[in-house]
Amino acid sequence: MSREIIKIIRSEKQEIMPGRIVNAPLPTDDAENIETSPFVVLHHFGPFEVNYLNKFAFEPHPHRGFEAVTILFEGEMEHRDSTGSHGKLSGGDVQWMTAGSGVLHDEKQPQDFLEKGGIIHGIQLWINLPREFKMVNPGYQDIGSKDIPAINGNGVTERIIAGTYKSKTGAAKTYSPVTAIHGIMEKGAKIAGSIPNDQNMMIYVTKGKISSGGRDILQSEMAMFGAGDENYEITAQEPSEYLLLAGEPINEPVVQYGPFVMNTMGEIKQAFLDYREGKFGTLN
Ligand code: MN
Repeated sequence: MSREIIKIIRSEKQEIMPGRIVNAPLPTDDAENIETSPFVVLHHFGPFEVNYLNKFAFEPHPHRGFEAVTILFEGEMEHRDSTGSHGKLSGGDVQWMTAGSGVLHDEKQPQDFLEKGGIIHGIQLWINLPREFKMVNPGYQDIGSKDIPAINGNGVTERIIAGTYKSKTGAAKTYSPVTAIHGIMEKGAKIAGSIPNDQNMMIYVTKGKISSGGRDILQSEMAMFGAGDENYEITAQEPSEYLLLAGEPINEPVVQYGPFVMNTMGEIKQAFLDYREGKFGTLN
């Protein structure tokens, strides 16, 4: 017995800023929050061409109650936030931001990158925080490509961003058990792995086509795997890339509204009040 695909979620197209459409498999009406927990939002952006006149830039905005993780495959991004953190990431790097009690940040391409022009491609993932950690102090982990352990061989690279997998442990510190693996496969390559069966497990395909148990997962689709066993197997039908996500579900109510992910609507209202009163700080 192995873990089998129980559901395939197709991305919705979402115009996240004028002219910029991202693939968004999460959130979805096709799955209950508890089935995808602790993951609440997945935006797959690009590949986009950007330049000085045509950016992919988020002006200052607040977040509270979750972690925002940017996994960049190609291009460059720059981040500044109200705690004074500043980071630049390029293809292969990961930025793991704990919004916690609240940050104000912006997310843009660096000026010199916009002047040359280039391609930007990546994923932004929102990972929920358990109630007891929603109001922790904000934090920021810059995880460079070289700090991401990889397993290579037989036409496969598995990059372990978070969690312990095949006796390697990713650099990201997380508030609840989370596994995140970026996989790159040549056509025909196979992977056999295991994910603890108390964790929800899903695979989102960013490029190509892979299959598991006779079912195909196409580019921009997310397959949800049932528990049952710990072991899973996938095969690349084409040169492919994917993000495997797994985590222990957080068994609490989720109220997501705009840039906040809390447990109750009262807490969402409080977040808006605090934001209006300037409690999220400023960017200099
Ligand atoms: Mn943001």
